[in-house]
Amino acid sequence: MTLEGLTVAVAGMGPMGRGIARVFAQAGANVIVSDMTPELTQGGVDAIAAESAADGAVVAVSGAPLAEAVAHADLFIEAIVERMDAKAALLKEVAAAAPAGLIVASNTSSLSVGEMGKEFGDPTRVAGMHFFNPPTKMKLVEVIRGAGTDPAVVSRLVELVVAVGKTAVTCADSPNFIVNRVCRPLYYEAQLLVAEGVEPAVVDAAASGALGHPMGPITLLDFTGLHTHLGSSETALREFGDPKYRPIPGVRALVRNGMTGRAAGRGFYDYAVEKPRAAIERVTRPAPSGQASIAWAGPSAAEQSAGAADVTVYSCHLPPTEADIEAVAQLASSGPVVVDSSDAGWLEVLPAGAEWARIHGSFVEVVDDAVAGVVPGRGVELVLAALGATSVRVPALPGLVADRLANCMANEASFLVEEGTASKADVDVALRLGMNHPSGPFEYTDRVGVQQVHAGLRSMLAAFGDSRYRPSQLMRRENAGAER
Ligand code: NAD
Repeated sequence: MTLEGLTVAVAGMGPMGRGIARVFAQAGANVIVSDMTPELTQGGVDAIAAESAADGAVVAVSGAPLAEAVAHADLFIEAIVERMDAKAALLKEVAAAAPAGLIVASNTSSLSVGEMGKEFGDPTRVAGMHFFNPPTKMKLVEVIRGAGTDPAVVSRLVELVVAVGKTAVTCADSPNFIVNRVCRPLYYEAQLLVAEGVEPAVVDAAASGALGHPMGPITLLDFTGLHTHLGSSETALREFGDPKYRPIPGVRALVRNGMTGRAAGRGFYDYAVEKPRAAIERVTRPAPSGQASIAWAGPSAAEQSAGAADVTVYSCHLPPTEADIEAVAQLASSGPVVVDSSDAGWLEVLPAGAEWARIHGSFVEVVDDAVAGVVPGRGVELVLAALGATSVRVPALPGLVADRLANCMANEASFLVEEGTASKADVDVALRLGMNHPSGPFEYTDRVGVQQVHAGLRSMLAAFGDSRYRPSQLMRRENAGAER
C-alpha cells in the first residue's frame, strides 16, 4: 500500500514527533508538522530535513499552526509533552478543526488513550500509536485500543503501520501497554538483586550472557534515567494497586541524591570510575583453557551419559526431591559433581562436596557463596573448560540471576494475556522488536517448559515470601494441564 495522497499531521517536534513525521514522509505521505510556536514548528521542519540528510535520505515536510495542519488531514498523531492536561487542551483544539473522519492517534507511553478520547469528544476515533525510540529505526509500533475506539480505526492504524514498513501489535488501554509492562519485573528484579548484594555488572552480564539481552537491565535503567523509571513505577503502583509494582527503595535514594543515571554521570554505575561495559568485562570470566569431559545426569538432562568422565553435571530444574539429593550425594562421594539448577531449594540441601551452577549453553552462572558454604572448585572449572563457557560468580539467591529475570518476565506476560490486554503472539513480537530480545516470554516458556517456569516462581515465592512471585492463574492452570 502506498501512502501517496494520505495527509498526516504531527504535533510535537521532540525526537519522537520528528521521527514519526520522517517515517510517514519517507513512506510517501504528505506530512504537516506543528509545535507550540511558529519558531518551534520551523525548527522541527529544519531538524527533520537535517536528520534525514544525515541518514542519507531526502525528506520534506511542511509546518503549519495546529488548526491548519489538521484541517485536511486523514491522520493526526500527537507526540507532545507527556502530560494529560497538555494533551487534553491540544485535543480540544484538534476537535475544533478536525475534518469528519479524522483518525487521532497518541504516541503516549503511559497515559490513558480512553481518557484522551473523552477529551477529544469522540472516543471512537482516538487510539494509541506507540512508536519506540528512535522511530526511524525501531520496527515496533504498539496500537492501543481505548475502551471506546472503533475497531475500524484500530484496523486502519495497523494497516498504516505496515504501510510504513513496521510491525504492529495491538493491545488494550492498560498502563505501560506491552513492552514496558512485561519489562517492569525485569527492572524490579534487577534492582532487588543489587539490593541483595549482587554487583550491577553481574546482573547485566547474566542478562546478556544467559538471556541474550543486548543491554543488561541495570545499564538500561541508567540509560533511561532512574527518575523516569521511578515515575513509571509510581504510576503502575497507582493504576494496578498491586504492591508488586512498588518502587525499590534504593532507587528512590539514588534519585533523591541526583544520581539518576548515565546522563547525570552516576546512577547504579559511577561513570567517572568505571563504565558498564568495562565493569561487565571485569566480572565476566573467560573460559579456562584445557579439555575435559562431562557425564550428564539428573531429571532435566537432555541426555543421560553414564561412564567415565572428568565431571558429572546433575541437571535438575525443578525443586530437588529426596531422590535428587541422594543421587547427588552418591555422585559427590566418587568424583566432582556440579548441580545445574537455579532452584532455591538447593540452598539447604546441597550435599557436601557438590558444587552448584546454572548452565545456559556457553554461559554459566557459578554459585560462589562463602556465607552459605557453597564454593566452586575443580568440578566447576572442569565444566567451564569442557563447555568453553564464560561465567559470572553469583550468590546462592533464589532463581540466581538469569532464571529469576526470565521467569518473572514470563509471569508478567502471562498476567497481561490473562487479563486480555494482548495476545501471546503479539507479546512475543513486541519483546523481540521493542527490546531486541532473542525470544519473547511465551517462546521462552515454551522452550524451557511451563512446569519449570511455574516451579521457579513457586520456589521464589516460598523463599522470599513476597507475593510478587505468585504465578498468574493462567500459568497455574497451564502447569496443571501440562502435569496431567
Ligand atoms: P519532548 O518533550 O522531547 O518533546 C515534546 C515536544 O512537544 C516539544 O517540542 C514541545 O515544544 C512540544 N509541545 C509541547 N506542548 C505542545 C503543544 N501543546 N502543542 C504542540 N507542541 C507541543 O518529548 P518526546 O520525547 O519527543 O516524546 C513525545 C511523546 O512521545 C510523549 O508523549 C512521550 O511519552 C512519548 N514517547 C517518548 C519516547 C521516548 O523515548 N522519548 C518513546 C515513546 C513514546
